[in-house]
Amino acid sequence: MGLRIDTGFAPRTQLGGPDLGDGLLLPTAVLWPGFAVNAAFYAGVCWVLLAAPGVVVRWRRRRRGRCAACGYDLTGLDACPECGGGA
Ligand SMILES: [Zn+2]
Repeated sequence: MGLRIDTGFAPRTQLGGPDLGDGLLLPTAVLWPGFAVNAAFYAGVCWVLLAAPGVVVRWRRRRRGRCAACGYDLTGLDACPECGGGA
């Protein structure tokens, strides 16, 4: 009787953790392919969450004819007089 842990990633002999008996296995080894995939995925999620608001703000400013950097109205201007950004 006991809790059987099936990692689904690697055979028990490759994990290197101690066998606690009766199917229990304490995972103590890093599964590098899974770790790399998870790190890349969550880094992408964090990047999107942090970058998306700025991208949307700059896109809306350009669409409305304003400076993408500071939001100054660029009607009739080639460059932004506030920050020097291009039109
Ligand atoms: Zn500007």
